[in-house]
Amino acid sequence: MEKITDYFGSMVFDDRVMKARLPEKVYNSLKETIDKGTPLDASVADSVASAMKDWAIEKGCTHYTHWFQPLTGLTAEKHDSFITPSPDGRVLMEFSGKELVKGEPDASSFPSGGLRATFEARGYTAWDPTSYAFIKDGTLYIPTAFCSYTGEALDKKVPLLRSMDAINKQALRILRLFGNDKVQVVKTSVGPEQEYFLVPADLYAQRKDLIMSGRTLFGAMPPKGQEMEDHYFGTIKQKVSEYMADLDKELWKLGILAKTKHNEVAPAQHELAPIYSTTNIATDHNQLTMEVMQKVAKKHGLVCLLHEKPFAGVNGSGKHNNWSISTDTGVNLLSPGDTPHENAQFLLFLAAVIKAVDDYQDLLRLSVATAGNDHRLGANEAPPAVISIFLGDELTAVLDAIENDTPYGGTKKEKMQLGVDVLPKFRKDTTDRNRTSPFAFTGNKFEFRMLGSSNSISCANIHLNAAVAEVLKQFADELEKADDFNSALHELIKRTIRDHKRIIFNGNGYDDAWIAEAEQRGLLNLKTTADAMPRICDKKNVDMLTSHGIFTEAEIYSRCDIMLENYVKAVNIEALTMIDMARKEIIPAVTRFTADTASAVSVKNSVVSVACKYEKRLITMLSDLIDEMDEAVTALEGAVAELKTIDSTIKASEFVRDSLLPKMDSLRAAADKAETVTSEDYWPFPTYDKLLFGVK
Ligand code: ADP
Ligand code: MG
Repeated sequence: MEKITDYFGSMVFDDRVMKARLPEKVYNSLKETIDKGTPLDASVADSVASAMKDWAIEKGCTHYTHWFQPLTGLTAEKHDSFITPSPDGRVLMEFSGKELVKGEPDASSFPSGGLRATFEARGYTAWDPTSYAFIKDGTLYIPTAFCSYTGEALDKKVPLLRSMDAINKQALRILRLFGNDKVQVVKTSVGPEQEYFLVPADLYAQRKDLIMSGRTLFGAMPPKGQEMEDHYFGTIKQKVSEYMADLDKELWKLGILAKTKHNEVAPAQHELAPIYSTTNIATDHNQLTMEVMQKVAKKHGLVCLLHEKPFAGVNGSGKHNNWSISTDTGVNLLSPGDTPHENAQFLLFLAAVIKAVDDYQDLLRLSVATAGNDHRLGANEAPPAVISIFLGDELTAVLDAIENDTPYGGTKKEKMQLGVDVLPKFRKDTTDRNRTSPFAFTGNKFEFRMLGSSNSISCANIHLNAAVAEVLKQFADELEKADDFNSALHELIKRTIRDHKRIIFNGNGYDDAWIAEAEQRGLLNLKTTADAMPRICDKKNVDMLTSHGIFTEAEIYSRCDIMLENYVKAVNIEALTMIDMARKEIIPAVTRFTADTASAVSVKNSVVSVACKYEKRLITMLSDLIDEMDEAVTALEGAVAELKTIDSTIKASEFVRDSLLPKMDSLRAAADKAETVTSEDYWPFPTYDKLLFGVK
């Protein structure tokens, strides 16, 4: 048996490999860059490139690629071989520092929202030494950032790194105020829990909707869904278990800390959670994880669906972004400490997150907005589209006591004085859990639960880091001026709780009453991507994001445009697929079944005169449904044609929300009704029961 410890990270050019293969001076210099963000020494690149190449070739590589994350939400790569001709007609295997550090993919077809058109046609990729290079399928992968020639970010990595810098800078100011001058770097960490579905590959291949859009656009509910709650944490089926074992192994080779796996709520739904890591690495690893999940599934005759809502009527898939801030001295700043001093610091960071989430509800909401995720949020299986924070009863009571200057706890009858008193110990166990909250405190981290399963986690973390950095900046500005730090701190926390407690909600987020209450509290309810996305261009958001250097104004407008365009395109593809399936598959099948039923009536009557009441009723019903479907398809065709005539992206997204999606719903309703009265032998593609319960 191969031991995990033998192959874990075997495909990664990680610290162990660097230490063993790089000259000491080069290693130390690179390590400085990785740990502290000091600029890379140019002479180092050649030496690293050569060591990387030798290592990769020993492992059977012939090619290398810069690996980047354009705004499609996927990853991109362009492979080059190491070969260079030598004068004697043979080839040498070469890889220079220049090739490591900078690449120039012909990137004109990646979305840029007009950035490249305005400034410069080409884009370039730049090595991100903070994320290890790795080997996949005989190619050396080098994680890179993707920019325009004038430096505008064309990807999801650049702004993420900028947001991590911003929060580092502001958090350090706060730590210095608490007298901490040892900490040099503050980083955010993330552990993303990834949900997914597995369906048999042969059935998948028969459904155009799954192939084209990643979700079923038609399908009546089978007799059984998830109501028995027998799948959640249930015994894992043999085939799934083999898949999961293979997946773990492939991820471990890539140094990805896959840790937890289990069945989820819906039939055929599962989850994988890694051990958390620095946000930048966690993001790269999550992109890789999604890729490897799909690749390994193929080997097992399965297809891994990462769409947020592959099936109507059962739960969709999300991604829980567990997020914390910690120092290079190993202190988690979201963990309540043991001393009054640590507690006060914890409460300040907690207050900062509370204010950040309240002030930038819109940015958090829109960071997870996609056509797919719109089906999930607020559908009683995922948090609503309204952002709120769950703190748990104990912590809420502490904050109440601070806000009102009232005693906290049963034994101690004095007011809590921050910086003097010790906080009570909070429970961190699972009893204090609320799974309906979009943003929950879970003992020493926040769990942002609104992300869709196929989302890159970048956007959510860019906006979260940015919002918290902004509030930490406001706090530091105020506290740095204070004469009496402790009392200024106390007043600041009190005021923050008073002004932002509306965002705290410990009840059931799935309850309709909460949505009404949230409205009264003045919280935003941005139901769809079309509602949410344009908010990124609001002055308050543009001011904040640009002031921390996370985006330029042009980058913000271009991103808004790209995200809305993605939304419009995704739904348009779905509409076209529905039209195709309805016209070419469903209506012909139902017509055939109706005709055969009618023939049966005449055949019967040629023998003996019978009323055929059932058949005649059925024929009428099916004929009506065929008409209904035809009318719905015609209406949808009209809407698709009209969409083409709309120039403005914002108007197009509103049209998709108000016209296209409702027309798709009408067509689906008619087709799903037809499915329930049509013989199974005639139905043109595999139904929900087979897809959801087909993996043995
Ligand atoms: P749940 O009960 O929410 O499913 P899990 O035990 O599955 O919790 O953990 C969820 C994720 O949170 C894991 O990826 C874990 O590594 C991550 N996590 C734990 N502690 C932290 C932390 N301090 N910062 C960020 N993520 C964390
Ligand atoms: Mg979990």
